[in-house]
Amino acid sequence: MPTLLYFLSLSFSQKYPPVKFLSEKDRKRILITGGAGFVGSHLTDKLMMDGHEVTVVDNFFTGRKRNVEHWIGHENFELINHDVVEPLYIEVDQIYHLASPASPPNYMYNPIKTLKTNTIGTLNMLGLAKRVGARLLLASTSEVYGDPEVHPQNEEYWGHVNPIGPRACYDEGKRVAETMCYAYMKQEGVEVRVARIFNTFGSRMHMNDGRVVSNFILQALQGEPLTFNLSSAFVSKLLSSDLVNGLVLLMNSNISSPVNLGNPEEHTILEFAQLIKSLVVSRSQIQFLPEAQDDPQRRRPDIRKAKMMLGWEPVVPLEEGLNKTIQYFSRELEHQANNQYI
Ligand code: NAD
Ligand code: UDP
Repeated sequence: MPTLLYFLSLSFSQKYPPVKFLSEKDRKRILITGGAGFVGSHLTDKLMMDGHEVTVVDNFFTGRKRNVEHWIGHENFELINHDVVEPLYIEVDQIYHLASPASPPNYMYNPIKTLKTNTIGTLNMLGLAKRVGARLLLASTSEVYGDPEVHPQNEEYWGHVNPIGPRACYDEGKRVAETMCYAYMKQEGVEVRVARIFNTFGSRMHMNDGRVVSNFILQALQGEPLTFNLSSAFVSKLLSSDLVNGLVLLMNSNISSPVNLGNPEEHTILEFAQLIKSLVVSRSQIQFLPEAQDDPQRRRPDIRKAKMMLGWEPVVPLEEGLNKTIQYFSRELEHQANNQYI
């Protein structure tokens, strides 16, 4: 290794996670919108460790600096406090467009803002992609399928969405975002990739995410009853590290049509509650609650396209992913307890 490189890697090795050296030809300038959020921060870690230059743009609505603070000061990393609803002028090669609240309590908190983020925000990022000739990957969602009438859902299914229901700001916002991607592709020649992401869990999830994994783990850790709505009868969950690998494979593939990324392994919600209860070794009870409005009964990805065209499928066993997430939530509870009087 040339002397200068040796000293550079040595000086960074103490402070930052290990970063591969990439030649200028292979190193990309990558923008991650929503990069301080749950999925975005794991994607930041992967792309930084792979040796790219990463710019995170986030308005910290649901994201937090703590998720990416371990990169602050690194020469390949930049964090910009910016709302994608406003135009953004930077020079990049690839855009992972993740900015949008993702969990129902978060996206329902301010539905108009959720709509603006997914529509105007996506338009701005496509405008940016067009100007600089960057490729854009949209983090879309299985919620574009709404409350599906077919199982499992493949990418050909058009969905069953209530346009005026409580989830519409998100579902319809993402559907328009997809429409915008293909309009920019056809009309302006922008290279787009669309990942339809199914429910994902892992460390750095929000404590108030409101979905089964975080609810059950927190309830089990705190000895409270594990509560759930009867309507969400089945769950399938993908671990964030598997998702992030899929996103990077998709971005660097030549597939411009939508691709499902999810875990087809399905469990009843009761099985899930029992599994988490046993992994936490908790004495919590299991309790049913009334149904929530428009909560889909069941969503399960057909991932044959991702398997065939990307060679991708989830590889981390569910229990291993859950154990890591349980450890994360225990640390977060400890952190909260230690900081409550500061
Ligand atoms: P998250 O809420 O943790 O992250 C979203 C990030 O976007 C946050 O850091 C937030 O502050 C930022 N953001 C929101 N509005 C913004 C705006 N106007 N300008 C700039 N930044 C903004 O959610 P996540 O789970 O990491 O989801 C990331 C993406 O993946 C989202 O687009 C979401 O729709 C999609 N997705 C996630 C899941 C999942 O299960 N987590 C499933 C399907 C799709
Ligand atoms: N935009 C942006 N960054 C850029 C280029 C464009 O944020 O580098 C925004 C721009 O403000 C506009 C949107 O993206 O609102 C769409 O841009 P486009 O060039 O497609 O449309 P136009 O500017 O012609 O309306």
